[in-house]
Amino acid sequence: MATATIIDGKRFAARLRADIAAQVARLRADYDLIPGLAVVLVGENPASQIYVRNKGLQAREAGMNSFEHRLPATATQAELLTRIAELNQDPAVDGILVQLPLPKQIDPEAVIEAIAVAKDVDGFHPLNAGLLAVGGTAMIPCTPLGCLMLLKDRIGDLAGQRAVVLGRSNIVGKPMAALLLREHCTVTIAHSRTRDLADECRRADILVAAVGKAQLVKGDWLKPGVTVIDVGINRIPTPDGKGRLVGDVEFDSAVEVAGAITPVPGGVGPMTIACLLLNTFTAACRQRGIPVPEVRPAAE
Ligand code: NAD
Repeated sequence: MATATIIDGKRFAARLRADIAAQVARLRADYDLIPGLAVVLVGENPASQIYVRNKGLQAREAGMNSFEHRLPATATQAELLTRIAELNQDPAVDGILVQLPLPKQIDPEAVIEAIAVAKDVDGFHPLNAGLLAVGGTAMIPCTPLGCLMLLKDRIGDLAGQRAVVLGRSNIVGKPMAALLLREHCTVTIAHSRTRDLADECRRADILVAAVGKAQLVKGDWLKPGVTVIDVGINRIPTPDGKGRLVGDVEFDSAVEVAGAITPVPGGVGPMTIACLLLNTFTAACRQRGIPVPEVRPAAE
């Protein structure tokens, strides 16, 4: 039986970062401008600390300025909003990202809405979500943007493709569906109340799984040749006690049926940070009226 092409997100993301770095160097030479990314971390969540460190590291590697702001786990919402207001005013800061989740005394929606729309490099502000929905110039959430890049690299023109998105969260499922619609796909959004998930999946030429349920999607739910983008990151137990990361798709059965599939890890994950850098670069250009060049990885 044929096996799917493995979509190497790690490699694609490295090429994308290299292209962003080249564009950042050009921005510096032509406009004396260095894009700046501010990442705000509240509390000491170990996973969040790793994410924040990686974001800063990769921003600096791409030639950008990176500003880390740490607030204690006891910080109040007012304290965080004050910090965001300062960053909104700071001309050295082009992009602001507040690492989620936040401690329970802080309302994440109030925080997201406080970030200046032009600096909202996560693309979570309701105005950016609305702009994406109506086809305007939005900041696009990083994970769906990364998924779309992988899809276009694999398929080219997406017009007319039947796309099924599993999950309807504001950070992945909904913006993913909006992006695919913008690319002229016929889009279905399936979710926890969908009646027959397998049946919906079988219709897909493109399947994006963003559910957070380990190995939910089986190989026999797939149409032969489908392109599968697995966003899920789930840790399952292993006999050695260390656990193992798997996606929302049962890779071993899916790989026998799909035409192409992203692995977990090494698929969508690395694209998310690369797209954060891309959004920061885009935000820096837009805020100064500089035309945004198309950034796309050079051919290998
Ligand atoms: P979420 O919990 O906010 O949303 C999950 C969605 O899945 C919901 O809309 C829900 O309706 C749907 N769902 C739940 N159970 C379902 C079921 N049995 N059948 C069908 N749909 C079901 O999650 P999220 O933030 O969108 O993240 C989804 C997954 O993607 C998680 O595993 C998360 O860790 C991962 N993720 C990965 C990246 C990355 O960079 N690779 C980024 C963000 C999220």
